[in-house]
Amino acid sequence: MTLVEPTAEERQAQEAYSLLLAHFDGCESCQIENYCPVGKRLRRAHRATRFALPASVPTTGTASPPREGS
Ligand SMILES: [Zn+2]
Repeated sequence: MTLVEPTAEERQAQEAYSLLLAHFDGCESCQIENYCPVGKRLRRAHRATRFALPASVPTTGTASPPREGS
């Protein structure tokens, strides 16, 4: 089994996201979705990093379990 290393883009996205959360934590305006200039900038930065990521579509539908031939 191999661990999948996060790409630089993924790491950047995570960083942008934690910056965003850290700001929301201490910003009353952003907490009620009345985004202040800083919050807006962080949100945009976070969105930009997400666009840089390859589309990570969650796999939908479960693979049918293998059946034993009877
Ligand atoms: Zn804010």
